[in-house]
Amino acid sequence: MSLVPEFQTSPGMRDILPPESARWRRFVEVFAQVTEGAGYGQVISPLLEDLGVFQRIGDATDVVTKEMYDFVDKGGRHIALRPELTASVCRAFVQHRPATPWKVWYAGSQFRYEKPQRGRYRQFDQVGIEVLGADDPYLDVEIIALGWEFFRALGLRQVTLLLNSLGEPADRAAYVQALQAHFDANLDALSEESRVTLQKNPLRVLDSKRPQDAPLIAAAPKIADFYSDAAAAHFAAVQAGLGALGIPFTVESKLVRGLDYYRHTTFEYQGGTLESAQNALGGGGRYDGLVESLGGPSTPGIGFALGLDRTLIACDDEGVFPAPAAKVDVFVVDTTGGLQALQITAALRELGIGADRAFENRSMKSQMKGADRSGASFAVIVGSNELDAGTVVVRPLRAERSHNADGTLRITDDTRDSTQVTIPRTDLLQYLQKALT
Ligand code: AMP
Repeated sequence: MSLVPEFQTSPGMRDILPPESARWRRFVEVFAQVTEGAGYGQVISPLLEDLGVFQRIGDATDVVTKEMYDFVDKGGRHIALRPELTASVCRAFVQHRPATPWKVWYAGSQFRYEKPQRGRYRQFDQVGIEVLGADDPYLDVEIIALGWEFFRALGLRQVTLLLNSLGEPADRAAYVQALQAHFDANLDALSEESRVTLQKNPLRVLDSKRPQDAPLIAAAPKIADFYSDAAAAHFAAVQAGLGALGIPFTVESKLVRGLDYYRHTTFEYQGGTLESAQNALGGGGRYDGLVESLGGPSTPGIGFALGLDRTLIACDDEGVFPAPAAKVDVFVVDTTGGLQALQITAALRELGIGADRAFENRSMKSQMKGADRSGASFAVIVGSNELDAGTVVVRPLRAERSHNADGTLRITDDTRDSTQVTIPRTDLLQYLQKALT
């Protein structure tokens, strides 16, 4: 008989089970703390949008043209599962017209029909922020710094910040022309794939990781030579701001975003431990025209999206941000049938004390194993003697920490029997409340 179940997650989709799922939730909590502490509010968008929302914004990108999950719903609407959240945030801005600057954060799953591999899935999670309605280089700095602070809060140390500016739209247009001319003049040296990309968008040739393209890309014109005075001043202010906050960065002139909407600042956070094809933890930039393309007023925007999955891989590599330990405070062991455990766990939970128990009237030994596995600090034990006497046994489960005479830490975990106490049942709640503080 085959042991492979008939149904499994489809390619690129995963179940996130405990305790890893608690780590995911904590990840979002840390992001919320960092961003809400800076005046950002959460926007919760639908998983589905009209296909047009994404097409308006990214019709030149693979994400939109090749990787979207789209379908016609029962009402005949052409719908897509969101592949990213900037488009939804801009759509929401146009729909609700909030006061500007509108500072929002988000978290959730995105869907892209990509080739699954480590760090690349078809359903993956992102956290991100967007600010609509403010055009100020120090906002660019605030945004970049919040991403940086978030990685620090997770404990990551090997993150690199890459920074670039695409200049004003006219600077960028002149640069694209120069790039086109450069690659046109050397077409024979370019890989076949990049020749196809060149026809669609010369900027995206710079993203090619094919060795054949490397010399030509290295010799390509640099965006910095095309900055207007205003663009150069904006970029200088961003760099000065990051310097003032002590955030290290590397200017990377090849860091361009394919979409025409991007202008001025672009940035990317790279994980130092990840393979280069999947080392982008996240990135973002300043954009214009997204809100307009969805029917709203001309509104500047800036934001970033960070990949949860890859960032957690980076955390594993650096040995930081482990899954939080399972969190019950007390495990009730009841060998009298289970009613005592039912009442005691309910009373403890009502007081806000995390409590778990065993079921199926297992043996004392088996229930104590469960108590150990639960991570609880105390076992409360009720056997027939205790039941008759109106008492309970409270047994500390955690290893005892104390100090040796020379000041070194001593950890002993065989203190259980000597430290367990028998107390009147009526004193239990008060006793535990005190013991757990
Ligand atoms: P993007 O929206 O393409 O700029 O992606 C932002 C971040 O999301 C990337 O740096 C990755 O960390 C993450 N990401 C993008 N696509 C995937 C994917 N298919 N699987 C896992 N993470 C992804």
